[in-house]
Amino acid sequence: MNNRVSSPRTTSDIIKQYQFTFKKSLGQNFLIDENILKKIVSSAELTKDSYVIEIGPGIGALTQVLAKEAKKVVALEIDKRLEPILAETLKNEENVRVCFKDVLKADLKKIIAEEFPADAKVMVVANLPYYVTTPILMKLLTDHLPIKGIVVMIQKEVAERLEAKPGEKSYGSLSIAVQYLADPKVVMTVPKTVFVPQPNVDSSVIQLKMRREKKVAVKDEAFFFTVVRAGFAKRRKTLMNNLLNLFSKEQKEAIMERLDAVQIDPVRRGETLTIEEFARLSDALLTIRD
Ligand code: SAM
Repeated sequence: MNNRVSSPRTTSDIIKQYQFTFKKSLGQNFLIDENILKKIVSSAELTKDSYVIEIGPGIGALTQVLAKEAKKVVALEIDKRLEPILAETLKNEENVRVCFKDVLKADLKKIIAEEFPADAKVMVVANLPYYVTTPILMKLLTDHLPIKGIVVMIQKEVAERLEAKPGEKSYGSLSIAVQYLADPKVVMTVPKTVFVPQPNVDSSVIQLKMRREKKVAVKDEAFFFTVVRAGFAKRRKTLMNNLLNLFSKEQKEAIMERLDAVQIDPVRRGETLTIEEFARLSDALLTIRD
């Protein structure tokens, strides 16, 4: 078997040889384009002392390229049926370790501490399974992991939401949650034709650089996100109407006062507020929260 698995021909040979059947429920769409794989890896800006966590190696197409560029790769794969295939396709990559685990249940902090040196430059790189893109990203961003950044292929629509700015159609609570902790940048858009089987949607590669400091300082993080979610709850409603869902009708006057104090017009829509405005608003509303 040719050691490179990313060509359409080799992928198809492997699938046949191992009689592998794709599970749609696990988001199994394998990449068959060497140029896209290289672009994902170059966006991760790896050096010979970079350490990589890969999520969902599949048959190892991206893993092989990562192994060439990084010091060590730890790949987490949920589907044990891929074990014999990965044993074959990664047999020459001595710096790769595959763990058969569900990334959402894995203790990533522990894995990083056990597998990588204390001061390691760690990147997460993956072609993510689409059915769990958002939970995986939120876990990576909020688990306080010692990672420098994330480069992942995800659905184009989700990538647009992560990067969206106030007033844009895709701007929402996910944009704020991500931009609070990281600086996202869409690196490229990828057609569905570079996967087997082809998914229904196009994809984007997005690079997320973890921020040293959060984008805004807030007094109560959980309440900040409550206010953000409330602000986007009903897109056609005014900010005031959406905020009323968090408080009682009797508190309308007090909400008005706080909005006035932070100079935010109550008839604006939540989707026009910047992250800084949401921060000022949630700090002000904290004083009337029960
Ligand atoms: N990296 C390969 C490539 O680019 O061709 C495969 C990418 S495929 C889109 C997603 C992979 O993630 C599949 O191998 C799938 O089995 C795996 N996967 C799905 N859910 C997972 C989870 N919760 N934890 C770890 N791996 C998962």
